[in-house]
Amino acid sequence: EMTSVTGVQTCALPICGEAEMAAGAQADASAAFKQWKRGQKLGEGTFGEVYIATHEITGEKAALKKIKLECEDEGVPGTTLREVSLLKELHHPNVVQLKDVFYMPNDSKLYLCFEYCDYDLKKYMKSCQYKLSANCIKSFTYQMLNGLSWCHSHRIFHRDLKPQNVLVDPKRGTLKLADFGLARAFTVPLRTYTHEVVTLWYRAPEILLGGKQYSVPVDIWSVGTIIPEMVTGQPLFPGDSEIDELFKIFRLLGTPNENLWQGVQQLPDFKAEFPKWKPRNLREIVQHPERLNDQGLDLIAQMLKYTPNERIVAKDALEHPYFANLDKATVGTIPLPI
Ligand code: AMP
Repeated sequence: EMTSVTGVQTCALPICGEAEMAAGAQADASAAFKQWKRGQKLGEGTFGEVYIATHEITGEKAALKKIKLECEDEGVPGTTLREVSLLKELHHPNVVQLKDVFYMPNDSKLYLCFEYCDYDLKKYMKSCQYKLSANCIKSFTYQMLNGLSWCHSHRIFHRDLKPQNVLVDPKRGTLKLADFGLARAFTVPLRTYTHEVVTLWYRAPEILLGGKQYSVPVDIWSVGTIIPEMVTGQPLFPGDSEIDELFKIFRLLGTPNENLWQGVQQLPDFKAEFPKWKPRNLREIVQHPERLNDQGLDLIAQMLKYTPNERIVAKDALEHPYFANLDKATVGTIPLPI
């Protein structure tokens, strides 16, 4: 049975080199795909265009992501398809559900069908005039960490977390992380297929310095940069090139050396000639203690540790005193202003 092999719904011809699939199953998959009626374009992501779609029978909404494939004529390797379809098994209230994977080998098109969310964090912050309340910031931070903790415990990391792929349902007060695991399946390009530069603002310093061994701590770094943006409305490190990104980080956290970050000198792009900045106080940059108290600031500091394995892990972050007065039973169920 086709879904037990790869979990991928294949329309038209079978995947090259894969076992032949029953013609009946392909027709089913093709019919299943056609039941999603494509609507307006929602945006352009790292991997391709995103459309809203409505299921013609159930009326259910979905976000249909058309993956732009690098080598259109070569088709998708079976390993990529298997890797992507494994993500369908990842069920968590704070992770956007991958409902289905549709692959059309004939025209080399791959579609990922995701649970739909009304807002991404960027749009939601804008709709609130960039003034999220203290409770909202705490709830969003907790839910991000909850989703991260779940994925990390399954050895899946995101690598490219940013406000555009943090999705929000204000009617329920729920936050969900999108695009989990895709960076590994497809490798993040330098530019999107529309030649837009992929943002560096949330990228961990070990990646920027050319490290090859990075892992789950890169996602904690991203959360550590997203929280200040929820507080101030401004990105924390809005670099316009890799070096500008690094220097923006260094200006706040100090230029890393072996004291601040053991092993930094071994990273491929580290230069002893980097300008030397001293660490600054986070509160100078992340003001508004009424939106983020000192405990919240301490949590950020632990997320923005240079040494990746000194960075707080998601599971421990959920136990941080910043969340002591958060009602964990109702988090993600209380409507938020729109
Ligand atoms: P991405 O490929 O995740 O960067 O998506 C590009 C844009 O499409 C995002 O900025 C979102 O606004 C939108 N988008 C992505 N996934 C969804 C989804 N599941 N529901 C609603 N909108 C989405």
